[in-house]
Amino acid sequence: MSTLTKFAVEKAIASRLSQVNFDAIVFGGIPSDHMLKAVWRDGKWGEARIMPFADLRMSPFTVALHYGQTIFEGMKAFRRTDGDISVFRPHKHLARFNRSAVRMAMPEVPEAYFVEGLRQLVELDKKWVADQAGFSLYLRPMMFASEARIGLRIPNEFTFLILASPAPPYYTKALRMKVETEYVRAAKGGAGFAKCGGNYGAACFPTQLAIQQGFDQLLWTDARDHQFFEEAGNMNVFFVVENQLITPPQSDSILDGVTRDSLLALGRDMGMEVVEKAFGIDDLVAEKARGRLKEVFGAGTAAVVAPIQSIQIGAHLLELDADYPVALELKRRLEAIRSGQSADTRNWNLIVAG
Ligand SMILES: *Cc1c(COP(=O)(O)O)cnc(C)c1O
Repeated sequence: MSTLTKFAVEKAIASRLSQVNFDAIVFGGIPSDHMLKAVWRDGKWGEARIMPFADLRMSPFTVALHYGQTIFEGMKAFRRTDGDISVFRPHKHLARFNRSAVRMAMPEVPEAYFVEGLRQLVELDKKWVADQAGFSLYLRPMMFASEARIGLRIPNEFTFLILASPAPPYYTKALRMKVETEYVRAAKGGAGFAKCGGNYGAACFPTQLAIQQGFDQLLWTDARDHQFFEEAGNMNVFFVVENQLITPPQSDSILDGVTRDSLLALGRDMGMEVVEKAFGIDDLVAEKARGRLKEVFGAGTAAVVAPIQSIQIGAHLLELDADYPVALELKRRLEAIRSGQSADTRNWNLIVAG
């Protein structure tokens, strides 16, 4: 399918934008004016259409509601200093979306529906990309099994949507983490690498327990031994040990983060030694004792980086008293590329005319 695909567009009669108070928005609360929708049925994709955002009509028999066949992506569009808009690494998000789709026995989405769909939706709803510092338009491609049939079998209908929602600046205080050694987010052979709905539903209860105990998030460990770090809540996890930037290697239990991949490249640019290796509780404690552990932080689209101030390991509290120079420099470099202040040498930005 050519990248010049022009989708059928039905415009909203009136924009809701003027009713939005940008000083009071909460993340993920308000839809923009439009959405993209395409339906796959009996082996092939129907046309993708851009239409006014509206509730869906669906049968209580809808497969996704019963068996959790849903996948999603989370991305952001930003206002650049030149007034145009950039969408960060859409092809990388598409590749991950389609890996999630395959794992959940769903059809892969054509590149044009995803990338060109994002571009045309953002162009149509560009006024929703606020130009105040830190604001963005959050983009949520998603797909679910939309066949109405509660018999359990591979469904023959799926619905692909791209949704958009204005997002306020993401301020994060340094996080207090608890190492999770009882519950499991993802196991070898499971679906941890997929952004599929069930992974997040199943993480709610252990996360809720940690919050009740006074922590902000969980540090997930491997399902077998609860020894090696996997992720920081819904973020990838990084350790700075002297001049090394360490993160666990990709596996079927770790989400292949777009931010993770970008920070590894930027870390190399900064002259750091980038190491993808298993890093465990024992390594953390030992490097801290030697005075070599400088920073621990999470990384993801929402926060870019989220510094971690303390890590509870059983009865032991490990505290980090850094200013997070590495995390903050990585974030600064990534944001400078997105905003157009630094050269985009790796072609990460999809530019949409402002
Ligand atoms: C989305 C997500 C991430 C971060 O991925 P980005 O592409 O950087 O936003 C990390 N871990 C989990 C579990 C996630 O769902």
